[in-house]
Amino acid sequence: MIKINDLQKSFRTEEIETVALNGVSLHVAEGEFIAIMGPSGCGKSTLLNILGLLDNPTSGEYFLADTEVGHLKEKQRTDMRKGNIGFVFQSFNLIEEMNVYENVELPLVYLKVKASERKQRVEEALKRMNISHRAKHFPNQLSGGQQQRVAIARAVVANPKLILADEPTGNLDSKNGKDVMSLLSELNKEGTTIVMVTHSQHDSTFAHRVINLFDGQIVSEVESKM
Ligand code: ADP
Ligand code: ADP
Repeated sequence: MIKINDLQKSFRTEEIETVALNGVSLHVAEGEFIAIMGPSGCGKSTLLNILGLLDNPTSGEYFLADTEVGHLKEKQRTDMRKGNIGFVFQSFNLIEEMNVYENVELPLVYLKVKASERKQRVEEALKRMNISHRAKHFPNQLSGGQQQRVAIARAVVANPKLILADEPTGNLDSKNGKDVMSLLSELNKEGTTIVMVTHSQHDSTFAHRVINLFDGQIVSEVESKM
């Protein structure tokens, strides 16, 4: 599903150069659930942004389902993301002006799915995430746990093969965090590949493999006992 070879990423601001990733190589098989851990500033978000085609590496290769995608133009990256990658963020990133239904529908609008099919798929995703009763509510009328369930519904509504999650339980209490992890785990068991950045030891127990990053490099990998 994912193959990255010797990925480097540096940021230049004024005359200061920051090396965020320094030779990262990683293979993720289809259907795997990977957790990426490491201290603040070690490059986790940078890696997830590159995997999610939100940014290009400075050098190195990135194959997504056998296509080299490490050097695409922004427009090509946007096209490649649609329907292929679902995102879940710590801060939910829902659109405040849209209700729950409209937020979840948005990826299908971008994909030009026709209205009748959109309705069916949105309803199905809301039902799966146990949030149908809130379809007409706006994000600021929902608890954090509810907002994250909406965000997961939005991430899965287009049936992507890959979900990228950046600290998905970071803003949730433990009960809601557990619910969110159960939902992600269920999606993974149905075949969706998941790469998740987390600080939570508990969340990492859901992954098949934990990758530890430090100063922009992979320093260890631990297979789960599950
Ligand atoms: P983490 O997610 O592990 O906290 P990041 O990937 O956000 O780490 O950051 C890795 C390093 O790259 C840090 O030193 C950070 O300051 C730097 N960095 C990240 N994004 C940028 C950017 N857009 N411009 C300059 N430096 C950046
Ligand atoms: P549910 O079990 O229905 O998903 P939660 O346990 O997530 O609900 O939240 C408990 C209740 O508190 C819900 O009815 C929710 O709407 C309400 N609630 C939580 N936070 C807020 C908020 N910031 N604004 C309005 N209502 C909220």
